[in-house]
Amino acid sequence: MALDSKIPQGPLADKWTNYKNEINLVNPANKRLIDVIVVGTGLAGGSAAATLAELGYNVKAFCFQDSPRRAHSIAAQGGINAAKNYQGDGDSTYRLFYDTVKGGDYRSREANVYRLAEVSTNIIDQCVAQGVPFARDYGGLLDNRSFGGVLVSRTFYAKGQTGQQLLLGAYSAMNRQIGRGKIKMYNRHEMLDVVKVDGKARGIITRNLVTGEIERHSAHAVVLGTGGYGNVFYLSTNAMGSNVTAAWKAHKRGAYFANPCYTQIHPTCIPVSGDHQSKLTLMSESLRNDGRIWVPKKKEDAIAIREGKKKPTELAEDERDYYLERRYPAFGNLVPRDVASRAAKERCDAGFGVNKTGEAVYLDFASAIERYGKEQAYVQHKDANDKAVVTALGTEVVRNKYGNLFQMYEKIVDQNPYKTPMMIYPAVHYTMGGLWVDYNLQTSVEGLYAIGEANFSDHGANRLGASALMQGLADGYFVLPYTIGDYLSNDIRTGPISTDSPEFEEAEQNVRKQVDALVNNNGTKSVDYFHKKLGKIMWNKCGMSRNATDLQSAIDEIASLRDDFYKEVRVPGGQNEFNEELAKALRVADFLELGELFAKDALTRNESAGGHFREESVELDGPQKGEALRDDENFTFVSAWEYKGAPKDAVLHKEELKFENIELKQRSYK
Ligand SMILES: Cc1cc2nc3c(=O)[nH]c(=O)nc-3n(C[C@H](O)[C@H](O)[C@H](O)COP(=O)(O)OP(=O)(O)OC[C@H]3O[C@@H](n4cnc5c(N)ncnc54)[C@H](O)[C@@H]3O)c2cc1C
Repeated sequence: MALDSKIPQGPLADKWTNYKNEINLVNPANKRLIDVIVVGTGLAGGSAAATLAELGYNVKAFCFQDSPRRAHSIAAQGGINAAKNYQGDGDSTYRLFYDTVKGGDYRSREANVYRLAEVSTNIIDQCVAQGVPFARDYGGLLDNRSFGGVLVSRTFYAKGQTGQQLLLGAYSAMNRQIGRGKIKMYNRHEMLDVVKVDGKARGIITRNLVTGEIERHSAHAVVLGTGGYGNVFYLSTNAMGSNVTAAWKAHKRGAYFANPCYTQIHPTCIPVSGDHQSKLTLMSESLRNDGRIWVPKKKEDAIAIREGKKKPTELAEDERDYYLERRYPAFGNLVPRDVASRAAKERCDAGFGVNKTGEAVYLDFASAIERYGKEQAYVQHKDANDKAVVTALGTEVVRNKYGNLFQMYEKIVDQNPYKTPMMIYPAVHYTMGGLWVDYNLQTSVEGLYAIGEANFSDHGANRLGASALMQGLADGYFVLPYTIGDYLSNDIRTGPISTDSPEFEEAEQNVRKQVDALVNNNGTKSVDYFHKKLGKIMWNKCGMSRNATDLQSAIDEIASLRDDFYKEVRVPGGQNEFNEELAKALRVADFLELGELFAKDALTRNESAGGHFREESVELDGPQKGEALRDDENFTFVSAWEYKGAPKDAVLHKEELKFENIELKQRSYK
C-alpha cells in the first residue's frame, strides 16, 4: 500500500482551518447511532473519550489500570508547551513550529507540527476552564518557564506535577460523561487484538485482568491512545505497565509501524544503582532552568569523589567543568535533551563521572540559591552580604519552584540536594516512534486511529521537553474529534456492528491460543528474566549510540532470545483469574518482536538524527566537530514498516518529508 499522508493543499498557516471548513460533519442525532472504542485513558485517550462523548458519540473506553487516573501520564512533571506569548518574549505559532521541527532534527511533517503549534493555545484555555491549577505569577496571570532547545518561556506548569493535574482535568471531563452513560468505562481490561471487518477496524478483543475473561467489543471506529514502548529497554522512566501490545497487535493487523528506533534518552534521571531495579526516576528537565551541570575538570578529583575521599562542595569554581555552558554558550544548560544526554555520556566515558560506577554528572543549585537569595534579601531589606540569610532565602525560592522534585530525590538517594549537588545520568524516557498515521491521525488500517505517544507523532527524531503533553492533548481535544467525524460521516446508516462475525471469532481464538500456550508452557525461567535480558541488549546495542555491527548482532540476539522465551518461560497461576505474570508475559512477548524491528530500523538509518546517534555518522571538523551528523540527502523520510511475519521480514515504506516552509539547516545550539 502506498503511503498517503493526506496533507491538505494550500498555505501552511491555512491548512487546518481550510480542512475543518471542508470536512463532512455528523449531525448530532446521527452521532447517537455511532460507537467509538478508545483504548487508553491517559491524556491522549482520556481527552479524546471525553470530547467524543461530549459531542454525542457512544464511547467505550478501556484501560488496564483500576482507574483512568493512574495512566502513565500522571508521571509527567515539568510542564506543557503553548505559544501564548504571555511574557512578550517573542513567542508565536511560527516559533513553536520552528523549534519543534528543528528540535526533531527535521524528521517530522511540517503540516502536522504547524497544526500542533496552532492548537497549543486552545489547550491551555480548555484546561484552565476545567480547573487545572497552573502556576500563576504575582499578578495572577499564568506563569511560564523554559525547557531545553528553546529561547522563550512557553511552558505552563503545575509545580512538578503537571501531568497529574492535567489528567485530573481530563478525568473529570470523562467522569461527567461516564455519569451520563455516554462513556462506558472498562477498567482493568487489556486489549489483545484489533478486529477488522471488510478491511475496516470494527472492534477489539480484550482480557478482563481480574477474571481472565476474554471479551469481544465492537464499534464503528477504534482509537488507540495506548502510550509509548520505552519499557522495551526494561529500565526506563516509564510506568511499569507501559507496553507496546496494543500498537503491536495493530501492526500485525496491517498498521504500519513508523520510526521504531527513535527513542528519547532524557538527560536528568537519577542514575542506575544496581541490578535489582526495575524502574528509573526522572528529575524534570525544568530543573535545568536553574541547575548548572558540571563534572570535575581534573580526573584526579573525579576519582577522589568516586572513592568518597572528596565532596563536590570542596571543589572551587575553577576546578569545575560546566561542560554544557562551555560547549554551547547560546543555550548553555538548556540545550535539547539529545545534546545534553550525549554530552553527559561523553564526559563519563572520558572518565569524569562522579558516582561509584562513573555514570553520573552533577546538577547543582548552589548558584541559583545564591542568586535568588540575594534578590530576596534586597526585596526584603535584609543583608545581601550575609551568607546564612541569603542561603535561607534562596533555598525557600528554589523550594517553592521545585520542592516536590527535591523531596523525591532526597527520598531515593538519601542526600539533601539543597546542600549537595544532585547526581544525574541519561535514561530511556520517551519513544518518538509508533503507529504511522496520516494527517487525520488514521493508521494504515481504515477506521483505526492512533493518538498521543502511541503514534509516530510530530516529534521527528527528538522530542523537546513539554511537547508530549501538548501533542497528546492536541490530538485528543482538538484534532481527532474533527478528523474521525469526517470518517464516521460515512457510517451513519451502518447500524450496530455485530460481534458474531467470523472475524471476531478468529481474533478471539487467536488470543485464546496465545494465552493457553503461555500458561501451559511450564518452562523454568521467569518473564522478568527475559525482559531484563532484552533490556540489556537494547541499552547496550540500540541505546544512546549505535553502530552497524552491534545492531546486526542485536537483531540476531533478540530473535534467539524470543525462541528461548517460548521454550523456557514459566507463567505461574491460571488464565481465568487475576494473574499479573500472565499479563506481563503477553506484554514481553510483544516487546521481543518490537525489539527486533527496532534494531532493524536503526540499522537501516545510517545517519545520526536527534537522539538516534550512529557512531559512523559524526561531524569530523568545523565548528560542529564531534556533533551528530545528519544525512538529508538520503534520510529525509519517515520509515514505515509493514508486517510480513517475523520482524526480520518487515517491509520498509518511505514517506518522503518535504520542507517548504523551513530551511533544513544543521542544528546548532552553540
Ligand atoms: C516521568 C515522566 C515525566 C514526564 N514529564 C513530561 C513533561 O513534563 N511534559 C511532557 O510534555 N511530557 C512528559 N512526559 C511524557 C508524557 O508524560 C507522555 O508522553 C504522555 O503522558 C503519554 O500520554 P498518552 O496518553 O499517550 O499515554 P499514557 O499516559 O501512557 O496512557 C496509556 C493508556 O493506555 C492504556 N493502555 C495501554 N495499553 C493498553 C492495552 N493493551 N489495553 C488497554 N489499555 C491499554 C493504559 O491503561 C493508559 O490508560 C513525561 C514522561 C515521564 C515518564
